[in-house]
Amino acid sequence: MVSNSDSGGRASNERKGPIGKVWLVGAGPGDPDLLTLRAARLLLNAGLVVHDGLVDPSIMAMARPGARLVSVAKSRSRHTMRQEEINALLVSEALAGHDVVRLKGGDPFIFGRGGEEAEACKAAGVPVEVVPGITSALGAAAAAQIPLTHRDHASIVSFVAGQCKGLSDQDWSGLAGKGRTLVIFMGVATAGDISDKLMADGLAPDVPVAVVEKATRDDMRVLRGPLAGLADLVESERVQSPALIVIGHVTAEADNTIRALALEAVQ
Ligand code: SAH
Repeated sequence: MVSNSDSGGRASNERKGPIGKVWLVGAGPGDPDLLTLRAARLLLNAGLVVHDGLVDPSIMAMARPGARLVSVAKSRSRHTMRQEEINALLVSEALAGHDVVRLKGGDPFIFGRGGEEAEACKAAGVPVEVVPGITSALGAAAAAQIPLTHRDHASIVSFVAGQCKGLSDQDWSGLAGKGRTLVIFMGVATAGDISDKLMADGLAPDVPVAVVEKATRDDMRVLRGPLAGLADLVESERVQSPALIVIGHVTAEADNTIRALALEAVQ
């Protein structure tokens, strides 16, 4: 537990000597109730919040009035700020004596480029603290009632990035299959390539998959179908980002109501 006197409650613009500190803070998958207490406390006290596009507006609304909020949203087509520029911004603000809350969707160290931001700060002599967040993989699994591990179905879980850069054959071989659950981030645009690769690797076309769109948000959708129909499902349902693809038998374990909705959706 964090007391008021330690780092958990102290990300205001107060000066502690010449150099500020950067907190890399996970904002969780969307629902503000899924913030950690430490993240909420930092956000409530912060004088400067640098946030990315995945952070839900309802969470940004928790920042204190008058706080400086800087969006460094990235999208596939338009990068508002390149990663190097984000790193430089964090470093320059800290060197100017400002404490910075760097708020990132999910967990900062799961496909969030938090590692690069931490490295940049450390290289510049800026102190960094990391506050974990509930990654969207866990948020989506909970919200859609998909147990990522299950005594009868899966004892290995893999988190994989599905954007083009990570799509080599070697990366995908053996990731899904008996006893395994595969969770794919950033895979909506490449869903067809992914299912082709997995089936070429021997995965049965009827292995169940779930697509969880906008997990934990009010407009969340859970869509289900067989692996062979993944690309069609994504296209016919016009799945929007952010969404996760979960592949494996555990996706058949979900709540009946959600499954009924999904069957409707795939018809
Ligand atoms: N650090 C984040 C992941 C950043 S990569 C985390 O731990 O969750 C961005 C990808 O995360 C998106 O393309 C999507 O695949 C996934 N994602 C993030 N938030 C999501 C949400 N609310 N619902 C579904 N997928 C989400």
